[in-house]
Amino acid sequence: MNRRRVLVVEDEPMIAAAVADRLRAESFDVDVRADGPSAVSAFTDETSDAPPGQPFDIVVLDVMLPGFDGLEVCRRLHAVRPVPVLMLTARDAETDILVGLGVGADDYLTKPFSMRELVARVHVLLRRVERATPDPDPAASSAEPVLLLDGLEISPSERRVRVEGAEVHLTRTEFELLICLAARPRTVLGRDQQLAAVWGWAGHGSTRTVDSHVKALRRKLGGDRIRTVHGVGYALDVAR
Ligand code: CA
Repeated sequence: MNRRRVLVVEDEPMIAAAVADRLRAESFDVDVRADGPSAVSAFTDETSDAPPGQPFDIVVLDVMLPGFDGLEVCRRLHAVRPVPVLMLTARDAETDILVGLGVGADDYLTKPFSMRELVARVHVLLRRVERATPDPDPAASSAEPVLLLDGLEISPSERRVRVEGAEVHLTRTEFELLICLAARPRTVLGRDQQLAAVWGWAGHGSTRTVDSHVKALRRKLGGDRIRTVHGVGYALDVAR
């Protein structure tokens, strides 16, 4: 199996070097870019150092960048193909705003962060992508049922969601949160349980991240399908 490739986009040289060194120590191939336009061209293989035909597996992306910012980079990368994005933000509040905008990043890390945490998040995102890769056996995937819940139609194999017949576009994280809630409708799930199910580890990472993604998911699903139980967590409310 090829070594996995990471595109690191960060304009602060100290942070960029520290992140790249640590990821290389973890056996990743790392390309570093310091502004929006060169990040996009590295991704589209115009200026990449790596042999052609070996795409990036994941992108670690700073928000504030010269040229155009991380939001625009994220949009342009996803216009080429889906790739997991770990966004580096300056403040927790910024994360809330980004999630609200539906930028499409899969996870957020607030500066300053530890290199250990960064590596943990990168591995979690890569594992999630591997888990989500469709089964190559068509008989197996077509056998997967579509979940029908009170006007909500969820197809895990196609990763599609419809609300009252209209398709809604969710980020990977929002989709997995919805799956987590829909697996036990009307049951209150704690933020820690959701962190463990969606982000793959418990007691690590911020429950604020769950809140932000739930907010975005609730907005996209409309109505009052996701109920907040203050101090506890969330439940997907569906009619019996
Ligand atoms: Ca920056």
